[in-house]
Amino acid sequence: MLKFNWFKKREKPKTWTYEHHNVCKELWSKPQVNWDGMLLGCCVNANKNFGINVFETGLERAVSSDLYVYTKKMLQGKVPGIEASPCFHCYLYQQMVKNNDYFTEEEIQELLDNKNKCF
Ligand code: SF4
Repeated sequence: MLKFNWFKKREKPKTWTYEHHNVCKELWSKPQVNWDGMLLGCCVNANKNFGINVFETGLERAVSSDLYVYTKKMLQGKVPGIEASPCFHCYLYQQMVKNNDYFTEEEIQELLDNKNKCF
């Protein structure tokens, strides 16, 4: 007999870290672009952008821009947050700062090792 578990409640993530790693890692693995070409970074960010148009510059150049590179360092806790970065205004980044819960070198290396997906 078939068993359906469509309505089975998903187990809640045990830590907040689990949540932010699955969203913020898009900055490394699949940078999100708005319909008009503006670089957003991740799928949570809908209100601010990195001030660079991917359709005009190309994706590689966009993700090499100073602000984008700086923002990735922010999420690793290597540099202070700056208002120009979309992440600075995000609840998830504020939680990272509050909890001192940034991306670790190991997590970044894991993303970079997946060469087909990362920038
Ligand atoms: S901090 Fe917020 S805006 Fe920045 S990558 Fe994470 S979820 Fe997206």
